[in-house]
Amino acid sequence: MNSTTSNSSFLINKINAFNDNYIWCIEQNDKAILVDPGDASVCIRYLEENQLNLHAILITHRHNDHIGGVQELRDYCKTRQLLITVYGPTKEALDVSDIKVSNDEKITLDEFCFDINVLDIGGHTIGHIGYLINDNLFCGDTLFSGGCGRIFDGSSEQLFESLSSLSKLPEKTHVYCAHEYTEANLNFALTVDPTNDELINYYNSVKQLRNNNRSTIPTSIHIEKRINPFLRCYNEHIKSSVESYSNTLCNTPVEVFTALRRWKDVF
Ligand SMILES: [Zn+2]
Repeated sequence: MNSTTSNSSFLINKINAFNDNYIWCIEQNDKAILVDPGDASVCIRYLEENQLNLHAILITHRHNDHIGGVQELRDYCKTRQLLITVYGPTKEALDVSDIKVSNDEKITLDEFCFDINVLDIGGHTIGHIGYLINDNLFCGDTLFSGGCGRIFDGSSEQLFESLSSLSKLPEKTHVYCAHEYTEANLNFALTVDPTNDELINYYNSVKQLRNNNRSTIPTSIHIEKRINPFLRCYNEHIKSSVESYSNTLCNTPVEVFTALRRWKDVF
């Protein structure tokens, strides 16, 4: 059900939800924070099995598979006399959050040894945010391994800017996205960028993990900058693939990105 990434004083575990969602649980001793709990029942089972007390929920954006479990988790905490705080994006119409946060804000929780930094990473939805805890990025549906989120009410320029800002994070940053989409994303990435050896090697290792029913997440900024076509729109091979598919010349990386996102939408 989960895998563990060790950080000096806290753990990050995954809880599987629905078909391919990951709900991330950040744990310090018996205290927990959940990121994007779309389904309360799997979270409650996990908290009980691991004797964890929930203190906070972090929401990246308003889609139901990310917020659907919040009310039930509030009710659950009430019956256990646990006080929880739900953080969510300022720019989204959300009625499930207690505190709205946006770019550069810092969340400090007395019970935990780390601060949480908020990043505006809109584009999938206009108000989508990410949370950075030391070198761990929780980016919801903005950046996936080998791909990126679809554009709902944001714009491709906004998503391009958001992904560009994420690619400037330290390469060692672990990327905790909210879905296991890697294999499908890489099938597309290989169509766009078929001669990229690092992509071919990564695809082979992902294939092996998935054949053994194992997760490919977290990924890292280091990996994504080398294999993810949506972070590589300045690359000549990707530009020429996109131009020949769309039969249009692209003058800037953002134009490459826009045409690439449209191509992926129908792939
Ligand atoms: Zn979404």
